[in-house]
Amino acid sequence: MVVVKVGGGKDLNAPAIADDLTNLHLQQEKVLLVHGGAEYTNEVATALGHPPQFVTSESGVSSRRTDRRTLEIFCMVYCGRLNKMWVEMLQARGVNAVGLSGMDGRILQGRRKDRIRVRQNGRRRVLRDDWTGAVDTVNPLLLDLLWDNDFFPVVTPPVLSHNGEAINVDGDAAAALLAIHYQACTLLYLSNVPGLLSNFPDEDSLIDHIPADEVDDYVEVAAGRMKRKVMGASHALRHGVKTVIFADGRSESPVYRALTGGAGTYMDTARRRV
Ligand code: ADP
Repeated sequence: MVVVKVGGGKDLNAPAIADDLTNLHLQQEKVLLVHGGAEYTNEVATALGHPPQFVTSESGVSSRRTDRRTLEIFCMVYCGRLNKMWVEMLQARGVNAVGLSGMDGRILQGRRKDRIRVRQNGRRRVLRDDWTGAVDTVNPLLLDLLWDNDFFPVVTPPVLSHNGEAINVDGDAAAALLAIHYQACTLLYLSNVPGLLSNFPDEDSLIDHIPADEVDDYVEVAAGRMKRKVMGASHALRHGVKTVIFADGRSESPVYRALTGGAGTYMDTARRRV
């Protein structure tokens, strides 16, 4: 099984990604598409007069401040515009795609952080009234029903809190948790960079292989949201996923190239790239 997490960047080659996913599906490969939508959410939030705000946790990881209005906008973009864009693209190629949020059928659940401790301008603050959380549970029943009947599920945040609330969670962590649950052979993250860059944004500084037991050492190499992908990769590899790949979602045949050893950052138990 392959879990493909597609980022929310606007310059991704979505038609090429959909072509590759269709081919995998036709080859009877079990595939789960998880997608994000950060860039479009920022755009829509700004257009609606509620511009995005980001907060940095005490450990230095940044996340979207999700007040109730932001949660509504988040749902419009992730569950609406982008989820249905992927469904339409796959349906146009003959794949019977079904788009779901993590809340539907309780596919994904997590713990709401109703108080988040952040650093702002060097000072500590506690934010309340926030709908973010950490995903921790996969309930496979609905996805299994879909796969058993040859549907193609497309999943996106938000997920459901253990108290039945919608919560914004990190899509990269959600993809990692699903890959672990299904013991996927490969977890592929496609975004608008060639992979993990040792000297971001220099695209020639691509790190092409990281042994599984060294991935944690690379969290510091990543900045901003890339940190989350490296943390997701490390978590997945520690819990039975064989290979995690970061590859360029802007290229031609992005999924096919990544799965057949094209350019990207490969993380697995091999000592070097084969
Ligand atoms: P997506 O929404 O596609 O999942 P993210 O925005 O979450 O992608 O993360 C990818 C982004 O991380 C890149 O577009 C880049 O701006 C940033 N980044 C920070 N540090 C690095 C790094 N060392 N290598 C690659 N990308 C990095």
